Amino acid sequence: MAKDIATPLRTKEILQKHGFLFKKSLGQNFLIDPNILLKITSYAGLTKETGVIEIGPGIGALTEHLARESKKVVAFEIDQRLLPVLADTLSAYKNIHIIHEDILKANVLDVIQHHFSGITDLMVVANLPYYVTTPILLKLLEENLPLRGLVVMMQKEVANRISAQPGTKDYGSLSIAVQYYTKAEQVMTVPKTVFMPQPNVESAVVRLIKHELPVVNVKDEAFFFQVTRASFAQRRKTIFNNLINQLTNGKNKKTEILDALEKAAIDPGRRGETLSIEEFARLSDALYIPFHEQPL
Ligand code: SAM
Repeated sequence: MAKDIATPLRTKEILQKHGFLFKKSLGQNFLIDPNILLKITSYAGLTKETGVIEIGPGIGALTEHLARESKKVVAFEIDQRLLPVLADTLSAYKNIHIIHEDILKANVLDVIQHHFSGITDLMVVANLPYYVTTPILLKLLEENLPLRGLVVMMQKEVANRISAQPGTKDYGSLSIAVQYYTKAEQVMTVPKTVFMPQPNVESAVVRLIKHELPVVNVKDEAFFFQVTRASFAQRRKTIFNNLINQLTNGKNKKTEILDALEKAAIDPGRRGETLSIEEFARLSDALYIPFHEQPL
């Protein structure tokens, strides 16, 4: 087996050999500790039957671990300068395919159909570029891809929000957006010292396993998310005030909102952060008819 890329010495050698300089704007903080990589891959529950999608392989530190433990890895890398580096560092692995593309612009379903046909167990595993953590996660979840789940490193503050439960300060529309699709667990916190260069923020690994059956059934997903976001618009305001301010577009819908809250058995004086995902589902269904009789 080749020497691990993820050691301080080998990483420095690779960077020097290719004259590579980090681009902060692309969230380039490379992992230099093989133990962390072993833990990340073990949380993903990979087997020789698993297909893995990686976002941002960098110089291949995580990619090689994924390749050793799975059937095939497809990795999206936005930075063209890394392509010759990856061709060099990963040359020993025949089950890795690198795609030079911004993950946010990629047609991931097409890539899955093309590269993973016949593979039924698919995971996303990545040390995400932190400047786009949320858009990447939401894209991968909302596109309803045939994934078992995701194991992803991100800034700890976002990890806290994603895995937060009702009644806590971190609970908000992001918690609901992610937990609507997955069981979200923060499985590990990661010190700054395992990166080169060290990021300014703390990091954590989150495991998201997709629900086999939806946790709630709603009439209209887009409206459910709209109601959720509206309810958290001003955290210190009550759910009633947030809905009036955010949803009504200046129209008088006070009675309809009070009726819907009553129908959903939610006290209008509560704050959004106390509502469970089931309560948001009941509320958005109760609000659906009054808000869809005529355009808002
Ligand atoms: N996986 C490597 C590791 O753990 O050492 C590098 C992780 S680094 C935090 C993030 C990587 O994502 C960088 O290689 C960066 O160039 C890449 N990246 C940034 N934005 C991206 C995007 N929109 N699409 C694909 N890759 C991106």
